[in-house]
Amino acid sequence: MKKYIAILFVAGAAGALALAGCDKPAPRDGGQAWVAEGKTMGTFYRVTLASPPAGVLAGLQDSISRQLEQDNHELSTYQQDTVLSRFNHYPGTDPQPVSANMADIVTTALRIGAKTGGAMDVTVGPLVNLWGFGPDKQPRTMPDQRQIDQARARVGLRHLRLIEDDKGQWLQKDLPDLYVDLSTLGEGAATDHLAALLERRGITRYLVSVGGAVVSRGLSPQGVPWRVAIQRPTDKEIDAQAVVDLQGHGISTSGSYRNYYELQGKRVSHIIDPVTGRPIEHKLVSATVIATTALEADGWDTGLMVLGSEKAQALAEQQGLAVYLISKTATGFATWMSPQFKSYIISQEDASADTAHRQ
Ligand code: FAD
Repeated sequence: MKKYIAILFVAGAAGALALAGCDKPAPRDGGQAWVAEGKTMGTFYRVTLASPPAGVLAGLQDSISRQLEQDNHELSTYQQDTVLSRFNHYPGTDPQPVSANMADIVTTALRIGAKTGGAMDVTVGPLVNLWGFGPDKQPRTMPDQRQIDQARARVGLRHLRLIEDDKGQWLQKDLPDLYVDLSTLGEGAATDHLAALLERRGITRYLVSVGGAVVSRGLSPQGVPWRVAIQRPTDKEIDAQAVVDLQGHGISTSGSYRNYYELQGKRVSHIIDPVTGRPIEHKLVSATVIATTALEADGWDTGLMVLGSEKAQALAEQQGLAVYLISKTATGFATWMSPQFKSYIISQEDASADTAHRQ
């Protein structure tokens, strides 16, 4: 299992809590919750229900598994027989039919991609693979500029088009070897889909997480709002920097402190700047976004990570986003949150030894 920024679920008298920034399912709460959890998409999922109505649990675990399999079958680039892999390997440029679900995700990707000035770019796949993330193996040496330029020539949102009419939806590329990587959005989409599945069954008190994306609704088993914690960027599995009440929204965290490797004395992050073609190196280590859906939050967090703290703050303010950033300082961490984020905060820890803590 890879390391991810995720969400933690903690119990206690004060209520349940889920943490953004963990790579394993957090402990069960021991309360009156129904929990389904397991592995999916190279990470973990967890569905927690508080006092589920009678009868709704029959076959629920199977439905959850089927929904996750369906998303995986559509969105994965780690398997060859998925809808997305077939599109990537299709040698032509004719429009290819896709589901309404895939169209929705690509629409979100193109919109957020444009708003981040191409920092979030789902065609970044060749660079992700070149740097040893994605399905390809880790490189043994740093890619050289020629390899980076070759990969960059295959990257750009302008090469990807979504066509929608009353007959359906199609995805079209104008470069035959364009490679679309929806990894950054897949967890958010899957989280929303699980929440929708619960809603269809009349379930209104739930906390759902897939990797670093979470959605909650209603009250926890303790009868208080579900509490979601943002992971402090440390190696400790459970180390909350701040705790929020999602108020029925989605949250997602992207970070550079868990999914990386060391090569030739340098830390290589899985977040790639499409402009330079290289992994990010700046001081922003984690970006958390709360939005109406986990998909939306999952799209923005990666774009903000690419932009770095200063540009991310400016964009969050310009777009009115609920954003929480953690940056590395000489002696610890500094945090920043947009005005929109403040209304979700329940508590937060001091960020660093030098108390370089800004709000
Ligand atoms: P996020 O910050 O949400 O996204 C970062 C990821 O997005 C990077 O790892 C890269 O893939 C991509 N990316 C990097 N830079 C950019 C950029 N500038 N713009 C857009 N995207 C960028 N992993 C496995 O190991 N095995 C699997 O079998 C597997 N299956 C998966 C199936 C699906 C359907 C999906 C969606 C993902 C799968 N993954 C798998 C990948 C993995 O679980 C994570 O989704 C992925 O690594 C990103 O999650 P994150 O939250 O860590 O990072």
